[in-house]
Parts: sequence; structure tokens; C-alpha cells
Amino acid sequence: MLIQNDKVVTMHYHLTDPDGQVLDSSRGSDPLTYLHGAGHLIRGLEQALTGLDVGATKTVEVAPADAYGEHDADGMHTVPRQELAGIENLQVGMQLQGRRPSGETVTFFVVEIREHEVMLDPNHPLAGVALTFDIEILDIRDATAEELSHGHVHGEGGHHH
Ligand code: ZN
Repeated sequence: MLIQNDKVVTMHYHLTDPDGQVLDSSRGSDPLTYLHGAGHLIRGLEQALTGLDVGATKTVEVAPADAYGEHDADGMHTVPRQELAGIENLQVGMQLQGRRPSGETVTFFVVEIREHEVMLDPNHPLAGVALTFDIEILDIRDATAEELSHGHVHGEGGHHH
């Protein structure tokens, strides 16, 4: 059985940035189980896995545009620190929810904390970063009708409800 849409895939992954720094990894812990074609993985990775068989290992390079997007400096801005005084343990890397005047919710990441100001960035921390995934396919099975209707995996490695 090969990886294609509506298959449930179990795999190990090891994610590094261009400096070789490990960003995320399933090695030494539970593998990842996901529903292929449901958009749970970043686009560039999901595309590269299509057609692989159980036991396959592959190194997948994903350009920023197919991962977390290019970094757009336009949305970066500072706010007075006192405006965030209600937030406990404010720290770099923290994710904050804000609201545009239009009412639309927007996520910001704290990128720098100064004495009186905090710099916020709407870009994902991995925006603009080329990603390298070392993956190993452990299992492939058909999704159940229920999983397909929910759009996610049930049971081991998935939802329990
Ligand atoms: Zn479900």
C-alpha cells in the first residue's frame, strides 16, 4: 500500500533548520500518525510523502513558501509593555491573540521584550526558514469512513472521542 489521499500514515520525523539545529523530532518518542491529504502536515512535506511505501526513508527539503511562508516584515510592530501587563510570564516566543479593527482574530509572536516596549511579529517563528525533514514510514492503512468524515485519525496516535 502506498501513501495517497485518505490513507492513515504513521511515521517518524526529524526536523532540522539549515544550520542543522533540531527543531522538532519524534525520535525517541511516539511516531506521528496523520490522515494524508487532510492538510494536517505542511504542504511541501505532504506532497513529498505521496507515493512512498512502508519502510521508506527520505530526506525532504521544504522551501519556506511550502512550509510556514516567507517572512513578511511589514506586520512587525511594537506595543507599550504596559498594554500587555495582564499577561503572566510574558516571554519571547509566546503566542498572543489579538483582534484587528475589522474583528478578525490575528496571532502574534513575541520576538523581543525591551524595557518599555514589546516587539510583536505576526509571522510564524519558522517563516522564512527552509526545513529539512528526515522521515521514515512505519505504517500505512486505509482510513475508516468515520475518520474521513471527521477529517482526522482515531485511536492510537489520533483522537479519542
Ligand atoms: Zn473524530
